[in-house]
Amino acid sequence: MSPTSGFIPISAPVIGEREIAYVSDAVRSGWVSSIGPYIERFEAEFARYVGVRHAIAVSNGTVALHLALHALGVRSGDEVIVPDLTFAATAHAVLHAGASPVLVDVDQTWCMDPGAVERAMGARTKAIVPVHLYGHPADMIAIGALASRRNRLATVEDAAEAHGAEWHGKKVGSLASVAAFSFYGNKIITTGEGGMLTTDDDGLAERMRFLKDHGMSKERRYFHTEVAFNYRMTNLQAALGLAQLERIEAFVAKKRAIFRWYHDALSDVPGIALNPEREGTRNVFWMTSVLLPTGLSRDAVSARLREQGIDTRPFFVPLSEMPHLAHCRRVGRSDDACPQSRELARRGINLPSGCALERDDVERAARALKGCVR
Ligand SMILES: *Cc1c(COP(=O)(O)O)cnc(C)c1O
Repeated sequence: MSPTSGFIPISAPVIGEREIAYVSDAVRSGWVSSIGPYIERFEAEFARYVGVRHAIAVSNGTVALHLALHALGVRSGDEVIVPDLTFAATAHAVLHAGASPVLVDVDQTWCMDPGAVERAMGARTKAIVPVHLYGHPADMIAIGALASRRNRLATVEDAAEAHGAEWHGKKVGSLASVAAFSFYGNKIITTGEGGMLTTDDDGLAERMRFLKDHGMSKERRYFHTEVAFNYRMTNLQAALGLAQLERIEAFVAKKRAIFRWYHDALSDVPGIALNPEREGTRNVFWMTSVLLPTGLSRDAVSARLREQGIDTRPFFVPLSEMPHLAHCRRVGRSDDACPQSRELARRGINLPSGCALERDDVERAARALKGCVR
């Protein structure tokens, strides 16, 4: 696409010849459902990449979260702490498990504020679900320390947007009891629809494998003792995922390059801020995001960019602003509100960030944004 005209999408998957070859091979083999060599290879390679003992492929990121919570024993009457600023699926998974989300504010890294988590923890707290928002790792050391104060309090990483992100040299997905990834079409790598669970806990891994596949007895075929799920991924999806995983480091490098290009092009614009990257972390910049100057209408900027063929997305709507979550307890650092989450959501806009972008595309988008801000 020409750098001076044409539509620049917010994100588009990069699918190459190897993806096509693996998927064709899977189709030809006849192993089209959830048994097959690509499932095994994708799980094994993903576990190796993240640095954990177990990776379990599932149908999508939302059911990955639900399966983790269910397998950890989260049930009706329990509370699960989630950040106020995230995609709705984080809270929906908690509700599917029958529990109540407790919405906590975020901090300067745009992720769950450990100070708010500490205030939110109560007798009913069963789990904490930090989200690595837009590719930045949540403060897993502080959150892990809070969780370890309490017996049997689990942490579940929502790593749906952060494949390859690192916290002090360790990959997200290896920093909690269990982690959930998504392979939706716009994520760091894709299987079309798909998800993955990672854990070092042998017992939990076995339980999640059992529950994702109807909970059938290992000893006696078609014999079941509890309500379970069909949350399986297909061998076809895993074939696509394996080819994507084989070049994940190139995708992450490209995401980081796109961020740097925006950073360089926008560094002289007053009143804006780009994604944070806390010292000791590797942000994978799933989206390059901009906080617009206060007083400027985010939606008006977005509309003007759209007229110039530049696709954007607003930040997620804070969960506390959604009618079906209005009853949820909310906790900030010092009161019962989430001011930081609301402020970010009001000012934040995601810029085109797909791995197919060239530097010229990024510079054109940045120039157009400058024109709106000045
Ligand atoms: C994408 C996403 C999910 C859900 O993943 P799906 O595969 O779409 O079900 C959950 N949490 C966050 C933070 C996400 O961005």
